Amino acid sequence: MSVETNIIKCSSCEWESSEAILWGRYSYELPNLTRVSLDRTFGWCFTCEDLVPVEDIGRIHTERDIAERNCREAEQILKQVEGSLMSTLGFNRKQITKLKQNRDFARKKLDGVQMLYNVFQSRTSPPRCLTCGESNIVRVNIPEPPPNSVIPTGFAHPGCGGQLIVEHTRFRIAMKFTQENVYSLDGKKIKEIPID
Ligand SMILES: [Zn+2]
Ligand SMILES: [Zn+2]
Repeated sequence: MSVETNIIKCSSCEWESSEAILWGRYSYELPNLTRVSLDRTFGWCFTCEDLVPVEDIGRIHTERDIAERNCREAEQILKQVEGSLMSTLGFNRKQITKLKQNRDFARKKLDGVQMLYNVFQSRTSPPRCLTCGESNIVRVNIPEPPPNSVIPTGFAHPGCGGQLIVEHTRFRIAMKFTQENVYSLDGKKIKEIPID
């Protein structure tokens, strides 16, 4: 599978990157060894001297709201179907099994997100670069350009003086992930797990 990605360039030098740097599988490992998705955004790392994926810790509030809502909805739908006349007559068994699986999945997801939320309430270390693990970073806002256009990011290319710009393209990049990058709750990389 290949996906279109915008190109990120410098207005005055040869430096170039793309939005694809955020792609991939990233997760935190919880104390119970389950993994929960790691939210990331664009940042400039002064150690890597490059545009990198960085931790987006604040997003946990939104993620928790979404997980709670999904859980509530999965429970409501299950209750409705279980309470219907057809179900009391013994129909809908397959559908109910499926809805129970959905609800269990939503609950498990919420458990993980809630655990991460609790940890982040007391986390004192700043967000890290997911490439090198240092916190020597600033977030960079990468806007979405209209079709066939280029727009500025307002971020000056460090050490160059040019500005990072985003170019809308139909450039396609193969989206095949061979590994999951697993991090500690402190944002440090622990291991890579191969994906079949
Ligand atoms: Zn430059
Ligand atoms: Zn770095």
